[in-house]
Amino acid sequence: MRRTVFNEDHEAFRQTIRDFIRSEVAPHYEQWSEQGYVPRSLYKQLGELGIFGIEVPEEYGGAGETSFKFNAVISEECARAGVSFGGSSVHTALCLPYLLKYGSEEQKRRWLPSFVSGEMMTAIAMTEPGTGSDLAGMKTTAKLSEDGTHYVLNGAKTFITGGVQADRVLVCCRTAPPSAEDRRGGISILVVDTKSEGYAVGRKLDKLGLRASDTAELSFTDVKVPARDLLGEEGKAFSYLTHNLPQERLGIAIGAYAQSAAAVRFAHEYVKERTVFGKEVASFQNTKFVLADCKSDVDAMQAVVDRALEALDAGELTPADAASAKLFTTELAAKVIDKCLQLHGGYGYMLEYPIAGLYADTRVTRIYGGTSEVMRSIVAKSMGL
Ligand SMILES: Cc1cc2nc3c(=O)[nH]c(=O)nc-3n(C[C@H](O)[C@H](O)[C@H](O)COP(=O)(O)OP(=O)(O)OC[C@H]3O[C@@H](n4cnc5c(N)ncnc54)[C@H](O)[C@@H]3O)c2cc1C
Repeated sequence: MRRTVFNEDHEAFRQTIRDFIRSEVAPHYEQWSEQGYVPRSLYKQLGELGIFGIEVPEEYGGAGETSFKFNAVISEECARAGVSFGGSSVHTALCLPYLLKYGSEEQKRRWLPSFVSGEMMTAIAMTEPGTGSDLAGMKTTAKLSEDGTHYVLNGAKTFITGGVQADRVLVCCRTAPPSAEDRRGGISILVVDTKSEGYAVGRKLDKLGLRASDTAELSFTDVKVPARDLLGEEGKAFSYLTHNLPQERLGIAIGAYAQSAAAVRFAHEYVKERTVFGKEVASFQNTKFVLADCKSDVDAMQAVVDRALEALDAGELTPADAASAKLFTTELAAKVIDKCLQLHGGYGYMLEYPIAGLYADTRVTRIYGGTSEVMRSIVAKSMGL
């Protein structure tokens, strides 16, 4: 089926990204995966390419695009090649919407130009060792000083993508305790300078997949955060998170769809090359049926993400719609990629074959950005259950 969601500009941009991945990312990707992070120079290159400024208004050095479709193209092209740009999707798809929507004019002028150039990389820290799905249960605190000039931040976060290399981290914390009537109140976002005294990066976590992106533990011991680095209003951050999570979840859904499409392509190529019992693996009826099933699954995923993408751009994607899209695509991607790996036989288990990397990379899509169980709860609630 012809896709109608992208126009000529998106397709030209796709070609630029594809060429960039081929020449600047793919040749180094194995080494980056081994070391567990991408080099800072990649972020600089992405900044020069304009990737970080796509959705930043022109007055702060960006292109002023309001559509999420260019981000979707990046996600699709990375999945197609079986690579990632380290923590850069968190920088643009997760952190930027908060800075744009809740940042003051002074904050935008201070942060966005270096955000766009890649000199200031950002990460977002919601999850804590003791709480992930239940964000209202977070324990990290920030107490405003008596003279009101700064907050004193204490606590710990974990699983923070881009956490090793970030220059500023959007730290979600409690500026007031929860009340019996409202567990979600009292949470705020501070945009913390990672060079502050008392700010520490703990372990860089060793992951099953997404090995070229750094994921870290962070800790804060009496970190002084200037009051001017509070994002938006004090105590309102839970509603900010609720507002922005649909875009994050759609981004994950798009990635899962694109990983599945890539898996089918890899399997299709492989079964034409591999000979078993004197015949191409592609010639077995089972292979044809499995790949036909996978293709129709991918078509269905594409229809869902394309509709959701249009809805997001139109400002109509509800939290339940995004949860449904993430649930559907990520659960189905796991099945599709597993079947495509099976068609590779033992080679599918070898990391030198891209299907093995995809298999490991896709596993986390059912966990981060909210687990499948949490997605089901959101969808069920929207059904009045
Ligand atoms: C690679 C990676 C990168 C990440 N990047 C970031 C990041 O950049 N920033 C950040 O803040 N976080 C990040 N996370 C954290 C991620 O969002 C959390 O891991 C996720 O939300 C789940 O939280 P948890 O790990 O604490 O699991 P838990 O909340 O402890 O869940 C454990 C199990 O209980 C289930 N469960 C929980 N609640 C319910 C319920 N109500 N009903 C039924 N079952 C339930 C879950 O589905 C799960 O199966 C990342 C995680 C990973 C793995």
